[in-house]
Amino acid sequence: MQEEAVAGSEALEVWIDQDLCTGDGICVQYAPEVFELDIDGLAYVKSPGDELLQAPGATTPVPLPLLTDVVDSAKECPGDCIHVRRVSDRVEVFGPDAE
Ligand code: SF4
Repeated sequence: MQEEAVAGSEALEVWIDQDLCTGDGICVQYAPEVFELDIDGLAYVKSPGDELLQAPGATTPVPLPLLTDVVDSAKECPGDCIHVRRVSDRVEVFGPDAE
């Protein structure tokens, strides 16, 4: 699926399945505004206010200017544990469960 086609009209959000995170930090390299490694060695998403969101399945909005970086993170993630989904119907559009 093309990123532009998805992003054109749909708000997206992203979450990480920490159970599968290897802690390599690739996502943080791609999009430090969205992802951060905590002291437990696992990656978490951050709120728009820069707060680390540690609740399981916590999501944060994907800022449009960062869409490519977030999608690249999902593609490169060794744990296959970055999930990008539409806010409106929670359908995964990038990540291991995307069609
Ligand atoms: S790229 Fe994936 S496995 Fe690596 S730190 Fe980020 S979420 Fe974890």
